Amino acid sequence: MRSVVASGLLLAGYALALSACDPGGASSGAAEAAADGETTPPPEGAAAGAADLSTGTHVVLLGTGTPNPDPEASGPATAVLVEGRAYIVDAGAGLVRRAAEAAERYGAEGLTAARLDIAFLTHLHSDHTIGLPDLIHTPWVAEREAPLKLFGPGGTSAMAAHLTAAWEADIENRLSGRQPATPDGWRVEAVEIEPGVIYKDDRVRVTAFAVQHTGWPEAYGFRFDGGGRSVVFSGDTAPSEAVVEMCAGCDVLVHEVYSATTFRDRPPEWQSYHAQAHTSTVELARLAVRARPGILVLHHQLGWGATPEGMVAEIRAAGYDGPLAYGRDLDVY
Ligand SMILES: [Zn+2]
Ligand SMILES: [Zn+2]
Repeated sequence: MRSVVASGLLLAGYALALSACDPGGASSGAAEAAADGETTPPPEGAAAGAADLSTGTHVVLLGTGTPNPDPEASGPATAVLVEGRAYIVDAGAGLVRRAAEAAERYGAEGLTAARLDIAFLTHLHSDHTIGLPDLIHTPWVAEREAPLKLFGPGGTSAMAAHLTAAWEADIENRLSGRQPATPDGWRVEAVEIEPGVIYKDDRVRVTAFAVQHTGWPEAYGFRFDGGGRSVVFSGDTAPSEAVVEMCAGCDVLVHEVYSATTFRDRPPEWQSYHAQAHTSTVELARLAVRARPGILVLHHQLGWGATPEGMVAEIRAAGYDGPLAYGRDLDVY
């Protein structure tokens, strides 16, 4: 159903997609869809659809989930498409299949499996890395020529080496068997990062900044600059001044969030963890007022039963009245 809605918005282009981001403005998306013969309103806060993903910079949400196995939300993973090339942030479950779905839906060649060859990990929690073997091996079978370039915190190299070792028999089989296989597409070139500019090419510059995610010695957010836009990822983090400073009027801020309302019903030990490791709706509203993003995209939402509309309302009530979207898998910003 959503693909029909997305195609309706596709006709209207990017401006409508952005105006439909806020649930307050979602009716324009519904009206557009209805005019296109679609009667079901789009999901609240959805911003699916974009004019042309082969030029400029676009954020494609490949997975907006958490460790919880929500069938509607794959594990956390996002693609920043810059002039058609995909730069992946985090490798949650389902990553390569969601990318294939987005490639087909939006005609985005850069999201086809064989083209996925660079990724950035915010931290090494399993929900952000369990799709890593998928990202290493599936594109290789699809005849990726280049090794996967993988940037992440300390431990990334060891994780990549373990995953390659775990599939040693498969790699040996494909390289020595009758099936065609590129010689280096299974390899991983891992780079362990520190805060600062961690990557640069002719399309994009990626800056890493440290955030607080309890228990992890290293957890990062990222800022992408390229194609005339700036995109900031919070990663998993407690409220962070670094996010405010790195965004500072950025075009898109993709931020994790939990419901401050349903949080009150959580067991004390979980309340203690979440308060130190993640960012509530109320805290995010206060941050976003100062970060002034062109649009705030909610991601990695922990609702514990709170509805998307309810979480958006919590943020509004806490004082943020700027552009806002409740991110869902395959939305484009
Ligand atoms: Zn997470
Ligand atoms: Zn985490």
